Amino acid sequence: MNPVLPDELLMLQRSVREFVETRLEPLSREIEERDAIPRTAIDDMAEMGLFGLGFAEDRGGQGFGKLGYCVAVEQLARTNASLWNVIGGSAGLCGTAIDVGGPDALRGRYLPDLLTARKIGAYGLSEPGAGSDAGGLQTTARRDGDGYVIDGAKTFITNAPIADVFVVFATVDRALGSKGITAFVVERDVHGLEVGPNDAKMGLHGSTTAQLFFRELRVPATQRIGEEGKGFQIALRTLDYGRMGLAAHAVGAAQRLLEACVAHAKTRAQFGKPIGVNQAIQWPIADAATEIHAARLMVYDAAARADRGERVTDRAAMAKLFATELLGRVADAAVQIHGGMGYMKELWIERAYRDARIYRIYEGTSEIQRLVIASGLLADT
Ligand SMILES: Cc1cc2nc3c(=O)[nH]c(=O)nc-3n(C[C@H](O)[C@H](O)[C@H](O)COP(=O)(O)OP(=O)(O)OC[C@H]3O[C@@H](n4cnc5c(N)ncnc54)[C@H](O)[C@@H]3O)c2cc1C
Repeated sequence: MNPVLPDELLMLQRSVREFVETRLEPLSREIEERDAIPRTAIDDMAEMGLFGLGFAEDRGGQGFGKLGYCVAVEQLARTNASLWNVIGGSAGLCGTAIDVGGPDALRGRYLPDLLTARKIGAYGLSEPGAGSDAGGLQTTARRDGDGYVIDGAKTFITNAPIADVFVVFATVDRALGSKGITAFVVERDVHGLEVGPNDAKMGLHGSTTAQLFFRELRVPATQRIGEEGKGFQIALRTLDYGRMGLAAHAVGAAQRLLEACVAHAKTRAQFGKPIGVNQAIQWPIADAATEIHAARLMVYDAAARADRGERVTDRAAMAKLFATELLGRVADAAVQIHGGMGYMKELWIERAYRDARIYRIYEGTSEIQRLVIASGLLADT
């Protein structure tokens, strides 16, 4: 019996690991080089149940809870990071916002499709003028009869080029600040929505990102998620879960890099000995192993608390901050330990190094995670 994970999740861990190694990893290089994910890979991940893992069965999910989701995401990190990014943007963010905010009619209409990837979702919060300060967003939703008219723009929206369904945050009254923000579900074919071209990125090749433009886009009030003015709370609650997933992915990515470093340190010989006999190689490996262990426990703790119904804003922010900063250090050390080969596209380490850079930026930068943690601690001062 594992002291941290129940047997059921250890089985899940093993089956996802095997699926990743046999079905996804062989596609990794092609995805990177073509900057595109084959639709069959998305369908395979859906068939494996990976889109609905963390959602309750009565919502169309697999019922493994947030802990099960994080355990699986850690294994999904053992291949091209863009593959999980599709799940994270679709079920992870778009699906969670609908799940968290409701009402049941929207949950019933969209979750079964999002959690089986029959539909792909996207989460539109960030704007050209409102990234870290998402509460200052400027997209408006004007009341009009029995619906709303949305005008504005979103930027860097994961999955936008391939999405069928968008969660869009807009304000019903800019003067109310974040208390005016309201969330909507917008379908792709609706008049007034334009999706920009796929953005060229440093890494995460295969995962798509684009701008959204709304010009007099009409949505019926039945497409509103939750109550008017509660959108920012829904956005933050969704990000609590998103950040745990990101932290879990960072742990898995760092673990795989560590294993590659250990193997290379044992087999690469210089000066007549394996390079691993040198303390200069041993120390970053020891630090990585120690910090990965700590980060993993932080992720599991946050997820287990979420499954018990606790609010995990601070724990999720801590796990994301710690795990993603750690991944940056491990990715850098991995390139260094692999020497010139670490810089070559022939090996996946170079890709992992570039992919690692995004974790400290999206779903709130490291600076914003510190702000969230500190504001929780200093709330009464
Ligand atoms: C590949 C990719 C995918 C993305 N996917 C999505 C998505 O699906 N949906 C979505 O809504 N958004 C998405 N984003 C947007 C992402 O969440 C934002 O880029 C991120 O929150 C940072 O916002 P910004 O880029 O505007 O940076 P800015 O907010 O302009 O920040 C610039 C710098 O200033 C720092 N800073 C800002 N304010 C403070 C402060 N108060 N204290 C200290 N430092 C501060 C930041 O930490 C950062 O270092 C994505 C971004 C990328 C790159």
